[in-house]
Amino acid sequence: MGSPTTVRVAIAGSSGSIGTQTLDVVRAENARPDRDVEYVVTALGVGSSVDVLIAQAREFAVGVVAVADASRVAEVREALPGVRVEPTMSDLVAHADVVVNAVVGFAGLDVTLATLAAGKRLALANKESLIAAGPVVRPLRSTPGAEIVPVDSEHCAVHQCLRSTVREGVEVARIVLTASGGPFRGRTTDDLRSVTVDQALAHPTWSMGPKITIDSSTLMNKGLEVIEAHELFGVPYDRIEVVVHPQSIIHSMVEFTDGCTMAQLSLPDMRLPIGYALAHPHRIATPFGRIDWENLQRLDFAPPDRGTFRCLDLAYEAGRVGGTAPAFMSAANEVAVERFLEGGLRWTQIAETVEESLQQHESPTGDLVAADIIEADRRGRDAARRVLSR
Ligand code: MG
Repeated sequence: MGSPTTVRVAIAGSSGSIGTQTLDVVRAENARPDRDVEYVVTALGVGSSVDVLIAQAREFAVGVVAVADASRVAEVREALPGVRVEPTMSDLVAHADVVVNAVVGFAGLDVTLATLAAGKRLALANKESLIAAGPVVRPLRSTPGAEIVPVDSEHCAVHQCLRSTVREGVEVARIVLTASGGPFRGRTTDDLRSVTVDQALAHPTWSMGPKITIDSSTLMNKGLEVIEAHELFGVPYDRIEVVVHPQSIIHSMVEFTDGCTMAQLSLPDMRLPIGYALAHPHRIATPFGRIDWENLQRLDFAPPDRGTFRCLDLAYEAGRVGGTAPAFMSAANEVAVERFLEGGLRWTQIAETVEESLQQHESPTGDLVAADIIEADRRGRDAARRVLSR
């Protein structure tokens, strides 16, 4: 056997849940004596979690790091002599074959744009960049070599199901995204007025960062994923459906024109979509959990409760309006979720804040550029703050 092929990996947002799990996948794959691919982590970036960054950079002997928080750069330089310290995450792109964009929130847009413009593979875990900036990201996807492989369990599932057709554009009848329903599945609006931050953070099947966990509890996460699916796969909104599936074993489905539905099943572990994106079009050799058919007794399905979990339809609405509406809505949601996490808002007020903010949205005319998205993001935040200050 020859020596393994090298794949250089950069991780923007390496200290968070997706970032650290990416390193788990790399460790596991590189530990295999029979490996035919060697993943080399070349570049890591964080906002301000420099302690984590320093430990990771030492373990993986990384040559380049990015630190967004300028006030923490000096201590990183001191701790990592000989390592280049860059000011922005997009500076990591040049050093990798595949860029994992695990930045949380709208700040991830630059990494998405830089990776696609450089004609590289983007393992995309940052939802907001595609959801908010879909119209700006779209043209860059045709850069030679550029490719988005989604690191989101649902979209990774759809990506896998789509491999069973060679005529995606004509043979896809529906995309069906599954939702666990979050910790508050089956509860009423009245029940939910007094829930605490800790209750909202206790997700039944997935272990994720705080922002996305709150978004899962409101179904905003699923709503954002509907927009993400529309952007990624070019399927119209009336052919993207959501079904609640509490076991989180089926990660999403694609129905074709002949009525055949393909589903992707696996245990709920983000290391599968991460590994899928790192290895694409091949597969990693490490299974992070396998389905136990003796104990998996049943798979349940139910329609989502759209009255209690209003955020789902608010996202559909913003998606259908298109233009800057998804950016505006996503920004307003970020502000509301931050306020909830700080203890300054009731859970039920998250949807109310997003809805009231969205009423203030106005789309600019003409072709959208990145500046329009940034402006819509700013306006969405301002609108939410105004709603919250009343
Ligand atoms: Mg997801």
